[in-house]
Amino acid sequence: MITHWIDGKAEKSASGNTFDTINPWTQQKWEDVCEAGQAEVDAAVAAARAAFDDGPWPRMGFAERGAIIHRLADLIEEHIEELAHADTNDMGKPLSAMRVKDVPRAAQNFRFFADHARMSVAEAYPMDTGHHAYSRYEPAGVVAAIAPWNFPLMLETWKVAPALAWGNTVVLKPAEDTPASATIMARLATEAGVPDGVFNVIHGFGPNAAGEMLTHHPDIDRITFTGESNTGRKIAAAGAAGLVPVSLELGGKGANIVFEDADMDAAVSWSNKAIFTNAGQVCLAGSRLFVQSSIFDEFVERFVESAKAMVVGDPTSAATQIGPLASETHFTKVAGFFDDLHPDAKVLCGGVSGDGRWVVNPTVIVDAPLDARISCEEVFGPVVTIFPFDTEEEAIALANDTNYGLNAMLFSENARRTHRVAAALNAGTVWVNCFFVRDLRAPFGGVGWSGVGREGGNFSREFFTEPKAVVMEA
Ligand code: NAD
Repeated sequence: MITHWIDGKAEKSASGNTFDTINPWTQQKWEDVCEAGQAEVDAAVAAARAAFDDGPWPRMGFAERGAIIHRLADLIEEHIEELAHADTNDMGKPLSAMRVKDVPRAAQNFRFFADHARMSVAEAYPMDTGHHAYSRYEPAGVVAAIAPWNFPLMLETWKVAPALAWGNTVVLKPAEDTPASATIMARLATEAGVPDGVFNVIHGFGPNAAGEMLTHHPDIDRITFTGESNTGRKIAAAGAAGLVPVSLELGGKGANIVFEDADMDAAVSWSNKAIFTNAGQVCLAGSRLFVQSSIFDEFVERFVESAKAMVVGDPTSAATQIGPLASETHFTKVAGFFDDLHPDAKVLCGGVSGDGRWVVNPTVIVDAPLDARISCEEVFGPVVTIFPFDTEEEAIALANDTNYGLNAMLFSENARRTHRVAAALNAGTVWVNCFFVRDLRAPFGGVGWSGVGREGGNFSREFFTEPKAVVMEA
């Protein structure tokens, strides 16, 4: 049974309601999950409120708080197997990726934000009047964190770590498909010495359920949300109603531009990772691939070869690179794009596995019109559409012709061109000759339908604190 974690303890729901979490590879239930209603949302927010208003956490020095957060990072590393199996069972991500990437990165997020908060400096403003002004970054209060299912543990820590490091208290609602790792993380936080009430987890659904109740709760001070753009609109409305600041990390339809002067081996290899990592269930996926006409045929041939060579299958097997999609609902949504494919679109490889599994093989599509559904909408699966272009200007125009703007990639050995094109792309992150490489101090967020606000380093500090000016007579 996966329970809530409220005020430092495992808690079931007063109603006794539960729901199933399904392993998408076996297609069987692997655990019961307690389903929160208003009573659990209220209890979790009340615990977080009390811990913030009267508890030691916001009043602790950065070094003391940081030491506890580092202990939590140690415990996450010690429990790597339990956490890795939790997300793999919940959403089918290869276990190898959990061990090598997601769990270590979750620990790193805690370490980074603990150190960043401790090392942060505030500003001083010597004034012409002889007064002296300086800034302080006060903890914001109770943070409501709502997370998606594609990188459950890792993305939850991206919110929880800076919120805790800056002295806030948190109520986290993980996605309903991926509840397991959050409760483990909360248990480990208590074991590490995070005081009761500081980090709470409740499980349940979004609309007319725990998610909506949490974002509309009158006692929260921040909402940090990662998920779909349409849900983001509802969360923004909830924030507006309560005048609560909202950070939104939303969907994407990433452009990936390969110029004729690119290193072909690197471009093929990175472009493959950019769309097929995590079975394409990545907000940053490079799902619109633009390749210069002079190298189009060669690139497509090599790219298709690389897609066909990927190992698809049981996520617990060491060789597997692509597991099933995360749930039957999501599989049905992705499969719908194939049913609805534009007649001109040509599928060079991949498609729905057809064996009853919720699997989509790495799929490469050419000749789709630019305004076809597959070319414009976020598929959130291992499906890429490739288009030719002739000039740099055309590539920029094509890449920017989208409602989204989370990220873009470009491949070229011409340094002047890479800077010029990076500056011209409407995206929160531009990767040049690489993908997915992150500096946690750098801004992360999206343009347009991809989000509102930035997180990372000082950008997270801005969101998770109330910056204050103190002005003194000298
Ligand atoms: P989703 O919007 O369906 O759900 C996300 C979370 O919101 C879940 O916990 C859900 O229960 C909750 N929720 C749903 N409706 C709600 C409501 N009305 N009020 C409060 N909470 C509500 O998204 P998903 O399908 O879990 O995740 C996939 C999406 O997330 C994709 O669009 C992907 O691009 C995006 N994403 C973005 C980033 C980023 O950093 N920009 C990262 C990962 C995923």
